[in-house]
Amino acid sequence: MADDNPLAAAPRERAENAAEPLLPERLARAITLGGPIPLSQFMAAANAHYYGTRDPLGARGDFTTAPEISQMFGELIGLWLVDMWERAGKPPARYVELGPGRGTLAADALRAMAKAGLAPPVDLIENSPMLRAAQAERVPNAEFHLDLIGLHDDVPLLVIANEFFDALPIRQLIATGEGWRERLVACQDILFLPIAGDRSFDMIIPRDLLQADPGSVLETSPASVAILRGLAARLLAQGGAALIIDYGYEGPAIGDTLQAVKDHAYANPFDTPGEADLTAHVDFATLKEAAEAEGLTVHGPVTQGAFLSALGIAARTEALAKASPERAEQLALDRDRLIDPEQMGELFKVIALTAPGWPVPAGFA
Ligand code: SAH
Repeated sequence: MADDNPLAAAPRERAENAAEPLLPERLARAITLGGPIPLSQFMAAANAHYYGTRDPLGARGDFTTAPEISQMFGELIGLWLVDMWERAGKPPARYVELGPGRGTLAADALRAMAKAGLAPPVDLIENSPMLRAAQAERVPNAEFHLDLIGLHDDVPLLVIANEFFDALPIRQLIATGEGWRERLVACQDILFLPIAGDRSFDMIIPRDLLQADPGSVLETSPASVAILRGLAARLLAQGGAALIIDYGYEGPAIGDTLQAVKDHAYANPFDTPGEADLTAHVDFATLKEAAEAEGLTVHGPVTQGAFLSALGIAARTEALAKASPERAEQLALDRDRLIDPEQMGELFKVIALTAPGWPVPAGFA
């Protein structure tokens, strides 16, 4: 028995050397000690663990994104950026991407941009060490950042964020028989469950929603607004444009959009924190308001289907099919997946932010 071994660590030493407790245990302990936590805190901890410990993308991961479906997505975005840059007078500029996943979008966009005469230095904002490694392979010489603070402040920025904001933590307010409360996460043993907090939030609820049916949910994402404001301040000071693509709505709207995805299927967001991708729909109206408040012009939202069609995805599909006829069928399927209203075309939306003096972007007519 190990305990009889005189060389075994003393109990105290053993505890100190013990492996870091797993995320559910850590969350459970924090809740037991400090009481139920805001949903945003639960979501932030779960996603930091989730993205920090795996490559979640692709057929063998938990979900797929537009750049993983087709190279055309990144190529058209690259050409959109080149068009902005050309009409802005070809200033020195940097390519910035938020949450680049496997780096596929960046690689496709930068390849198309280089062909069109623009090869900017690259800044990738990513906090997962595993995904950073994947990105570094596809985009050699990229600079990595944890957030916007470390970005260079001397030249205009060409920014893209695809399915980044949906991964940022949300808070939820829930209507109860006794008014609006914050949704908190409680814990029994190691089971997590949402509960309504004790404090009333009626004072910040729009008047027409005060009598909403019990169970109605309102979401906010302070983290998204903070990042968007930081980005907008950079664009205002340095010039440039940003393209934000995600699934979402033009709120504020009532609805619980928190979802967990694991193995390409929906899961319960409160089961197995850190093992499923937690996301929420993006409130484009609020992002738009925040960017405008900082002094930027916001274009859209338009649907992803309309945007990619305006950028010429049909012609691009044909050109690629002509070059490799054996891929024609797959190319058409991939195009449809991106633009068909029943698939990604309608739920996914696009907004562009432009700094004062920057041109009106293509695709938002
Ligand atoms: N844009 C990619 C990946 C989307 S998944 C694509 O379209 O395929 C979300 C990405 O955002 C991942 O790269 C994840 O690690 C990153 N991410 C999530 N939260 C983040 C945060 N707070 N700061 C920086 N990166 C974050």
